[in-house]
Amino acid sequence: MPKRVFITGGAGFIGSHLVDRLADEGCQITVYDNLSSGKEKFIARHTSKSYFKLIKADLLDLDNLKSAIKNHDIVFHLAANPDIRYGISHTDTDLKQNTIVTYNVLETMRLAGVKQIAFSSTSTIYGEPSLMPTPEDYGPLYPISLYGASKLACEALTTSFCHTFDMKCWIYRFANIVGGRGTHGIIYDFINKLKKNPKELEILGDGKQTKSYLLVDDCIDAMLFLMNNATEQFNVYNLGCDDRISIREIAELLIENMELAGANIKYTGGSRGWPGDVPQMSLDVKKINKLGFKAKYSSKQAIVVAINRMLGE
Ligand code: NAD
Repeated sequence: MPKRVFITGGAGFIGSHLVDRLADEGCQITVYDNLSSGKEKFIARHTSKSYFKLIKADLLDLDNLKSAIKNHDIVFHLAANPDIRYGISHTDTDLKQNTIVTYNVLETMRLAGVKQIAFSSTSTIYGEPSLMPTPEDYGPLYPISLYGASKLACEALTTSFCHTFDMKCWIYRFANIVGGRGTHGIIYDFINKLKKNPKELEILGDGKQTKSYLLVDDCIDAMLFLMNNATEQFNVYNLGCDDRISIREIAELLIENMELAGANIKYTGGSRGWPGDVPQMSLDVKKINKLGFKAKYSSKQAIVVAINRMLGE
């Protein structure tokens, strides 16, 4: 593992778990985060340590980023707008927070001579694929959310910079990642709704949406496994597990765990939760399995662990 690591979005949900792991591996870590959804408390145990530096700044601030990114061996680029639904009411957010920001990261890497990037992409770049589980070489790719579109553009920018300027990339196409420190996503939303009204849980859509979930521990293991074992110039991998779980089942697990047996589940109806929601998602993970990595937790196990961690926070 390279020693001097620059992590954009390192105060966020996935980023802060990555920080924990890389600190244990003895890396020098710089976190660059504007704390828009990330939280200082997620990285509090590192902030006074000599191996760690937090730069509170925005990736849209190109001049600041230019000097901050110098003298690192690798960039883990995790910062993004995490809220897919936000793009419905603010149509330039994903363009700015994902695509422009990724250009800024790649351009400042080029200027500083940083040669390796690990980028957090997503299953949403596949849109609504006719083939499921969906393998990495599926195409053509027609995303159906502005978030998915911006992430696909980020992937294209990443491979183009790598080809043109002799850099190397790992592109991680994540399933839904769950665990403690969540600040968004289905479990977070459901817990908040049930705290407000323990008698009723409103589900967006018909509850039959069925997707693949990966525990954040497995996610970090997979990211670092690929860094050590995937050796092409462009390394594009799905990160997920073999099975899926429905939204309705997640709601029932949560109601059981919160001991709210009488709570009524109400559906807003329709096959998807909102425009851009992909109701059926399953990633083909044979490529990473063949390389020697398999997720330890199924989707259901990941959900149960995440519920327990989030309720305990
Ligand atoms: P998160 O919101 O917890 O983390 C994103 C971090 O980026 C936050 O700390 C935020 O403050 C920071 N950030 C955002 N915009 C910034 C900017 N302009 N400048 C500096 N910092 C900025 O989200 P997460 O769930 O940890 O996601 C991490 C990455 O993984 C994202 O790129 C996301 O798109 C991708 N991803 C996540 C999931 C998931 O299920 N969580 C699934 C697919 C892909």
